[in-house]
Amino acid sequence: MAMQRALVLERQHELTLRDIDLPAETGPGQVKIKLHTVGVCGSDVHYYTHGKIGPFVVNEPMVLGHEAAGTIIEVGEGVTHLKVGDRVCMEPGIPDPHSKASRLGMYNIDPAVRFWATPPIHGVLTPEVVHPANYTFKLPDNVSFAEGAMVEPFAVGMQAATKAKIAPGDTAVVLGAGPIGTMVAIAALAGGCARVVVADLAQPKLDIAAQYQGVIPVNIRETDLAADVARLTDGWGADVIFECSGSPKAWATLMQLVRPGGVIVAVGLPIDPVAFDVSTATTKELRIETVFRYAHQYERSIALLGSGRVDLKPLISETFTFEESIKAFDRAVEARPTDVKLQIMFE
Ligand SMILES: [Zn+2]
Repeated sequence: MAMQRALVLERQHELTLRDIDLPAETGPGQVKIKLHTVGVCGSDVHYYTHGKIGPFVVNEPMVLGHEAAGTIIEVGEGVTHLKVGDRVCMEPGIPDPHSKASRLGMYNIDPAVRFWATPPIHGVLTPEVVHPANYTFKLPDNVSFAEGAMVEPFAVGMQAATKAKIAPGDTAVVLGAGPIGTMVAIAALAGGCARVVVADLAQPKLDIAAQYQGVIPVNIRETDLAADVARLTDGWGADVIFECSGSPKAWATLMQLVRPGGVIVAVGLPIDPVAFDVSTATTKELRIETVFRYAHQYERSIALLGSGRVDLKPLISETFTFEESIKAFDRAVEARPTDVKLQIMFE
């Protein structure tokens, strides 16, 4: 352990930049990374404003940040695939490798997973971090640190696209054009969708998503989404619906949007239980999928960024210095509809 400066959430509503004791020894199978860029995520902001997310409660000071990229500065015993100087991004959730979930390949739902900036686990808004090499991924030379720090939220979109089992030429609908909805739309297009209807109430969010070829923005304040989807699909319905808003109202419209035999992918988390029309789902023989974070998506995500097939740079709205971290979080709390991703850069 060693004292390191970090962005610490002391309790709900209270952030400080101060020294805190953090692990500093690079053990076997681990690497030490000098952080370069860390993204501000909705979950970090939610802990700041609400002090908890579902069952996860901030009971003691916690370092925030989990969307990270940096440079390897130390390599532990037995690590062969990474070396000092490598530019990398890191997967923030570390499961117990011996757990049943891990052995089944579903390590993201291991009940024992330790995920950065999910209480009581510290995050990475601090200059250096020690991390398992197996969850640290080398970035191609043409992928920047800023893009590397976008791999974490993009991996959620990739998990959604993967679970949808998209077929080439599919039509998808994404409900909710927040950062995750936008990532899902981009991943669905990369996964073979011919077009992705993105629906939201906020025009600035739709304008950002509409920069991507294949996205059809629909402002549900002005247009009847079900009629639009019916017109686009000759009344058949969309192959895949990605619910990314968590809104009960969105859940109430799903059945009008999806085609018989289609799939609904639940990505957004409603705060309270929502009603679900089992009879219609059954008579349409729908498939229902859920997404919790991601598993096995980092390498695929990095490959798409490196190939140039996916460009996440248009989603980076503003960059703050580490010393401006609290300012970055207060800006995120404003929830400007023109902001997709705010990032913090270490100098
Ligand atoms: Zn995140």
